Amino acid sequence: MPLAWTLPLIEIRLLGMTISASMLAGVMQMVDQGDIITAAMVCFCVIGTPLALALCLVYLAVGKPLGMNLRPVLLVLDKLKEWIMFDIYLIGVVVAAIKVKDYADLFAGYGLLAFISLTLFYLLLIIHLDVQSLWQKYYPQPRQALKPEEVKCCIHCHYSGQSDERGRCPRCYVTLTPRIPYSLQKAWAALISSIIFLFPANLLPISIIYLNGARQDDTIFSGIVSLASGNIPVAMVVFTASILVPISKVIILLALLISIHMRCAQGLKTRVRLLRAVRWIGRWSMLDLFVISLTMSLVDRDQLLAFTMGPAALYFGSAVFLTILSVEWLDSRLLWDAHATGNAEYTD
Ligand SMILES: [Zn+2]
Repeated sequence: MPLAWTLPLIEIRLLGMTISASMLAGVMQMVDQGDIITAAMVCFCVIGTPLALALCLVYLAVGKPLGMNLRPVLLVLDKLKEWIMFDIYLIGVVVAAIKVKDYADLFAGYGLLAFISLTLFYLLLIIHLDVQSLWQKYYPQPRQALKPEEVKCCIHCHYSGQSDERGRCPRCYVTLTPRIPYSLQKAWAALISSIIFLFPANLLPISIIYLNGARQDDTIFSGIVSLASGNIPVAMVVFTASILVPISKVIILLALLISIHMRCAQGLKTRVRLLRAVRWIGRWSMLDLFVISLTMSLVDRDQLLAFTMGPAALYFGSAVFLTILSVEWLDSRLLWDAHATGNAEYTD
């Protein structure tokens, strides 16, 4: 990780000088520009969460013999997985390279090898990390013969069985509720805020390029159009990640939330599949922010050639985070409630 974060990922030769871009330099460049929140978002996905995952695994290895409480760590472990975005950052490196290629000669940095290895290792780690078997290993639960109506499901550690005498999950000690409290309100709040943020995100400039003193503002869409003139496949990738995914995600979430309010009983399987699909594709929207962060650290030659971030980046990042949270907060079991006969149970 230290090598992949600090060594140059790509290098350019511009005006006889070699300029290199690393992940950390990109984040620092964003901080220097005063946009700490956007920098924090990038930092969270490519430095914060992978580091946290590694520390959690160390804690599990050390904590077990010392008899420490492993429950909070196991609970966090499951949530961390989808926030680790090395794979998306790697695609971001490729897109940034293609964008910069028009202005300068491009070379791969030493850090790229470290970064590709890191991405592969984390992919393997996430594939092999089975939180369920870890729960079973550290906190084995006796098998019980229960009637279906007695079985309760814990949405946090995915244990199904009876609650303990205090109404908690016997494995992770989180209080069991039939549905996540305030799930619908939280999901709506996050979704409505993200819809509001999507307007400035698409209308304001997301990147500003100074070329020989002339300033060129690019919105997400105009950036894709100018990318398409050189490389259509890459423009398609950026279009999918920055426009298609966020908008289709908002539309799907709106439809799902409305279907819960309407107590719609049709197409349950389709809707649950849509919710899963939305969870899986949502993280890819961060691509554009990664590209901007990397390009910024690469092309900063004052008035001659400079690339800076526009105000839309903050709104765009916020919208992406909020839609991910909206999916996270939506209790998928609410979709099934309308299907239940008689009194569909709502606890929101
Ligand atoms: Zn539990």
